[in-house]
Amino acid sequence: MSSSEFSDWIEDDLQKLRKEGLFRTRRTFKPLPNGRCLLEGQELINLSSNDYLNLAHDPRLISAAASALQEMGVGARASALVSGRTEWHARLEQRLADFEGTEAAILFPSGYAANLGVVSAIAGEGDTIYCDRLNHASLIDGCRLAGAAFRVYRHDRLEKLKRELDKKTGEGKTIIVTDSIFSMDGTWAPLVELCDLAEQHHAYLVVDEAHGTGVWGETGRGLAEELNVESRVTIRIGTLSKGLGAMGGFVAGSDSLINWLWNRVRTQIYSTALPPAICAAACESLLIIKAEPERKQHLHQLSVFLRQELAHRSLLADVTSSGPIIPVILENPERTMSIAADLQAAGFLVGAIRPPTVPHGTSRLRISVTSAHQRDDLERFLKALDCSLARYGESR
Ligand SMILES: *Cc1c(COP(=O)(O)O)cnc(C)c1O
Repeated sequence: MSSSEFSDWIEDDLQKLRKEGLFRTRRTFKPLPNGRCLLEGQELINLSSNDYLNLAHDPRLISAAASALQEMGVGARASALVSGRTEWHARLEQRLADFEGTEAAILFPSGYAANLGVVSAIAGEGDTIYCDRLNHASLIDGCRLAGAAFRVYRHDRLEKLKRELDKKTGEGKTIIVTDSIFSMDGTWAPLVELCDLAEQHHAYLVVDEAHGTGVWGETGRGLAEELNVESRVTIRIGTLSKGLGAMGGFVAGSDSLINWLWNRVRTQIYSTALPPAICAAACESLLIIKAEPERKQHLHQLSVFLRQELAHRSLLADVTSSGPIIPVILENPERTMSIAADLQAAGFLVGAIRPPTVPHGTSRLRISVTSAHQRDDLERFLKALDCSLARYGESR
């Protein structure tokens, strides 16, 4: 392929994305405290953030990070395995283990790296991985990379998964992989039923708590804690980038599991460790989560309110779920973009989510509430949404 053929190919693909309404532009925005942000000079209420507990801008995190920055500089300079693991990394791993009630914990450069690395390390040729259709891309990519047989299931049709597990024979490991809370739907994985299935079929269960950490469970350990199945989950993966307002991924577990991951997971071995200042900030988050449970309570009150209001309007996709991730499914990508633009003009930033992030025909607004918001913000948001829907028509 000549270089002009290559540019033609790129242009053709861009054209295709534009025609399908799937072209994504890059914007620059500035986060502000209190759940606001600045976009092209306009101040917006940010309903697109995963900073559920409003920690990313907390002065205590900033000052913990600032003093670690002064002390150790910016970058970690090497992978954790070589010489990038500072005392801040060690302290955060210890705090995470204490928080999760496990012997040990291990950090990863991101949640994506944790999922990709862990799933691809635990499975290989001869093994079979069962992966939920709605799982995050990082888990799906981990399954693809593993080299194991890879089957997709739907958690709303668990009897099919059960039949497949019943039929399965052979020596290899069986691994079930799931998000705890599905990131674009806000719905819960049926963790109790998955634990039952895993135990009945001698399968291992891997759960990604990206949207569970800090938000669910008595002490904020996630959905597995909320549903009282922590000890039945083989590997629990979490992120520091969402409810904890920082950056990075982690696994908490037994000493031997953590030692094994340290030695075997390529995204741990071959990537530079997190900046020490980020670890200092995340240590602070863990203290705040413990000391200030009212953040979580406020978050849940707001989520209940917004869900009720959307349900009254028949806009709530799943009336049985709860929590701060709330999709409004508009089906068509162009309408989704138009309504998101209307909302932005009215002062609200919401995620407009299109394929391939979600299946075709399910483009949506992904509203995420955080504890920074107030009921009044959401009331005004609902008014703006009503207005825009009246303009562009109801979806179905
Ligand atoms: C965001 C997300 C990740 C990736 O975490 P990062 O820390 O952003 O890399 C993994 N799993 C799920 C379900 C997510 O939503």
